[in-house]
Amino acid sequence: MPIVLGKDKVVALYAAAAERQWVVPTFCAENQTTIEAVLAACQAKATELGTRVPVTIAMTGRYSHRAQAVHYAGSRNPETGLELFLSDCEVLSRPAGDYPDVDVLTHFDHGQYDDDAAWLAGDLSRFSSVMYDASHAPWELNLEVTAAFVASYGDQVLVEGAADEVVDATGGIRGELTSAERAAEFVERTGADMVVANLGTEHRASAQDLRYVPEAARAIAERIGPKLVLHGASSVPVPQLATLFSDGVCKVNIWTTLERDTSPLLLRAMLENADKVAGGAAVQLAAEGLLGPNAPLAGRADIEFFTSSWRNQVVLAGMRQIIASYLDLWYK
Ligand SMILES: [Zn+2]
Repeated sequence: MPIVLGKDKVVALYAAAAERQWVVPTFCAENQTTIEAVLAACQAKATELGTRVPVTIAMTGRYSHRAQAVHYAGSRNPETGLELFLSDCEVLSRPAGDYPDVDVLTHFDHGQYDDDAAWLAGDLSRFSSVMYDASHAPWELNLEVTAAFVASYGDQVLVEGAADEVVDATGGIRGELTSAERAAEFVERTGADMVVANLGTEHRASAQDLRYVPEAARAIAERIGPKLVLHGASSVPVPQLATLFSDGVCKVNIWTTLERDTSPLLLRAMLENADKVAGGAAVQLAAEGLLGPNAPLAGRADIEFFTSSWRNQVVLAGMRQIIASYLDLWYK
């Protein structure tokens, strides 16, 4: 079906998910392959459960941690990237398309209050929700600009704000968990529909001991209700995320694992088919010691293997499996 747009419809979809005790996952994507992997995994889950399933597909703009609109297009033009992302989502979600039982939401992730200001002041009608991210601004400024964004767009799109202060007054990186008081102040003063809090998985921190802290989520949810968004979920093992719904989390963002954990799969598949992928170039790689003794070298380059299409299918299959493991956790 077409993308679910408009604040009322999006709110209703989240309410229906909550009835089923479902956390709606958000998968970020910076290419068409990832979007199709998300949709294919969700369609399989919908078929398995015999019901429609919701999913959010997201992209960041100029977010310095990962500027996905920049990476989406080979030209590295973020305007092109944004248009391709939205068009791909729209084409792949069309009513007569390949994933008829998936309710797709589009999300602008980590919209930067400064670097993405032009987009955030423009037409956001092709997005179901927007994360307005002023978390690297001082706290008072964050509250002020987020409240102004909610006043302008809060009746059109679901707004996710960041009740987090990444940089402290001395310019250092803050890593502490978000307190219930801070989260409550943020919701009261901004009117944001959903709130990103640091629950221990904060991807901008470089700590080795990243983990999801359910007690922190529950303490916040007691004050503001089940409005929490968890970011940085790729940094913790999947089973740690089983209790999200009962902890008050309504949305969870995932990206890194999709790319990080499928790259080794592609490397293996290419090595196992070295001759079909690279023909005579594989022999050269073996002579240089980059290919080991078990790599096949006798065959010829094969069009079934040396195309982007084959490489994309290897990655898509791996992403589908990862996505399915999250859906198994949250959609029962
Ligand atoms: Zn994030």
